[in-house]
Amino acid sequence: KDFRNNVKPNWCPGCGDFSVQAAIQRAAANVGLEPEGMAVVSGIGCSGRISGYINTYGFHGIHGRALPIAQGVKMANRDLTVIASGGDGDGFAIGMGHTIHAIRRNIDITYIVMDNQIYGLTKGQTSPRSEVGFKTKSTPQGSVEPALSVMEMALTAGATFVAQSFSSDLKELTQLIEEGIKHKGFSLINVFSPCVTYNKVNTYDWFKENLKKLSEVEGYDPSNRMQAMQTLIENNSLVTGLIYQNKQQPSYQELIKGYSDKPLVHADLKMDQSMFDELMAEFM
Ligand code: SF4
Repeated sequence: KDFRNNVKPNWCPGCGDFSVQAAIQRAAANVGLEPEGMAVVSGIGCSGRISGYINTYGFHGIHGRALPIAQGVKMANRDLTVIASGGDGDGFAIGMGHTIHAIRRNIDITYIVMDNQIYGLTKGQTSPRSEVGFKTKSTPQGSVEPALSVMEMALTAGATFVAQSFSSDLKELTQLIEEGIKHKGFSLINVFSPCVTYNKVNTYDWFKENLKKLSEVEGYDPSNRMQAMQTLIENNSLVTGLIYQNKQQPSYQELIKGYSDKPLVHADLKMDQSMFDELMAEFM
């Protein structure tokens, strides 16, 4: 299936987000989805444009609010594969409250964060993922705040699928998105996606020198939460691959008693006058 459309992305040449788009398109095709069987919901930021660049249902939401919309889409129509996406500023600053609660809720969607450690769309300010000492227009003397450890945070919040990748590694990224889509619950995939225009520190070369692949760590077991946490701490979170997966935890939908077999979008919601009058009477 072809998940490409004829909209030309207006990201800067070399932006890491191109690969994330390609990986989502490939993963969707590889797991056998149909374009009409998927929805991509995004927030605001350069990466937020992604929902318009994939041939499927798309919703370009508001800043930090991709997850509430994506969860609503999934609850209304569980037949759709729902992908939420956005940047680190979108998901880990203004949207952090939603991120934490979507994680602990374990609703069956995949959240892909394009983490470039800066605000790109607003022309380069420090984000929650910027390291101490990072100089931008908003921190000319260098940031004094430590970067948020999002993978550790996700493990602590009870995430059932935590992965990290690098936009230069299209093969690994595609595979992780496939696994995230197949996971029965909330999957968080953080992708190091360099901003070539405003972040001159965390470049492609910097990541190539500093990232470690978990597939090359002897004895690494992604079902072991303690080992996952310890490995992240020991490596300053600079690892890629499947960090943790819990296949036993039921998803939100599986735990809801009386959750209809029929998706809400297919339910017969016709209301006759007496039902309407009864409903209105409750508000009088
Ligand atoms: Fe990508 Fe940065 Fe350009 Fe935005 S400003 S499109 S994040 S390279």
